[in-house]
Amino acid sequence: MKAYEAVRLYFDHAAERLGLDHSMQQLLLVPKREVQVQIPVEMDDGTLKTLIGFRVQHDDSRGPMKGGLRYHPEVDLDEVRALATLMTWKTAVVDLPYGGAKGGIGIDPRHHSVKELERITRKFTDQIHDVIGPDRDIPAPDMGTSSREMAWIRNQWEKYHGFNPAVITGKPVEHYGIEGREEATGRGVGILAYKLIGHLGRKPTQTSVALQGFGNVGSHAAKFLHESEYKIVAVGDHTGAYFRRDGLDIPQMLKYSLGNKGMLQGYREAEHITNQELLELDVDLLIPAALGGVITKANVERIRAPLIIEAANAPVDPDADEILAARGVRVLPDILANAGGVTVSYFEWVQNLQYYKWGLNRVRQELDHVLTRAFDAVWHQATAEKCSLRTAAYMIAIKRVKAATELAGMG
Ligand code: GLU
Repeated sequence: MKAYEAVRLYFDHAAERLGLDHSMQQLLLVPKREVQVQIPVEMDDGTLKTLIGFRVQHDDSRGPMKGGLRYHPEVDLDEVRALATLMTWKTAVVDLPYGGAKGGIGIDPRHHSVKELERITRKFTDQIHDVIGPDRDIPAPDMGTSSREMAWIRNQWEKYHGFNPAVITGKPVEHYGIEGREEATGRGVGILAYKLIGHLGRKPTQTSVALQGFGNVGSHAAKFLHESEYKIVAVGDHTGAYFRRDGLDIPQMLKYSLGNKGMLQGYREAEHITNQELLELDVDLLIPAALGGVITKANVERIRAPLIIEAANAPVDPDADEILAARGVRVLPDILANAGGVTVSYFEWVQNLQYYKWGLNRVRQELDHVLTRAFDAVWHQATAEKCSLRTAAYMIAIKRVKAATELAGMG
């Protein structure tokens, strides 16, 4: 299923329950602005490549728009539009004063040198500098980008607009970044996992976990869950997956991947399985923390975990989601499950606007506070409405965006 169609179906489902009329649905769904730009860049060998860059700004009724920049071969307008829409619901469900946006370029960053990536990023910034800004739209890292790209974007943007580090978040700590941003999404997954299993009367030591993805989100989630004494039996990245029934040695795997260009390829202390097999393991908790669309109609019948936390964006297709719900599988939806990243981005932005540096403890405490409050609201709504956690989260988010839209006036 195409990414935008999936996000739309989730919206429709919640909007119907809320009794939203068609015109309001249209108003909330149609993106405010979609920017597509040409990025001509010279490669290291002297050839010229023309890339396409996107920035979709979905909604700004609750504040400046916010969302990451993705460098991945599958990036296209449909995907960016879907992810921008998800950001609107994500910032609303955790109640940050933001709207939603997303951007990206369809490249595989592993196939480019650092110099090429810097030229691509600066050229892209040249093309979109006038539509982003601290009060308009604040980009951040996503798949294939990190603090390195954020530093380049800030530097390039400031050439046009002058000093203002709040134009982008996820920056290096040395460049007005915030401590704890890098770990934030993974830590957030850990905080929410604890809340979820606690409500179901389960303890971390009794919970076996399969985790797909060992990038920024997956590796930090693994670290956090391991420290909290969950039994992580399988972990995978784009090179394959690794399984050990008695629990994996996560600190050793983190060290291994660090010394292996961020990859688990060649790790020998566990059984090598495929990513598909990882998803189908008989575990208590499954955490897809990599690509979207990995649980679909094609494999849903073989998914055995009774609990799923969507650390990635849009890993479960709506038709698969329906089948999981009918089977009683609890799915903690992406718009809440991975909101730790944008929450700490918000702290970074606040820090930048106030010229005041937060310490790591404060960041962690406030992250805990924001996510706990959001989780409790979603749990409460799902119980009251007798609906899935996803529908509950969407209902809360849509209500907030609708209220802000109406209060601004329609004239
Ligand atoms: N890219 C992340 C996300 O999908 C973080 C966005 C941000 O920090 O603005 O939520």
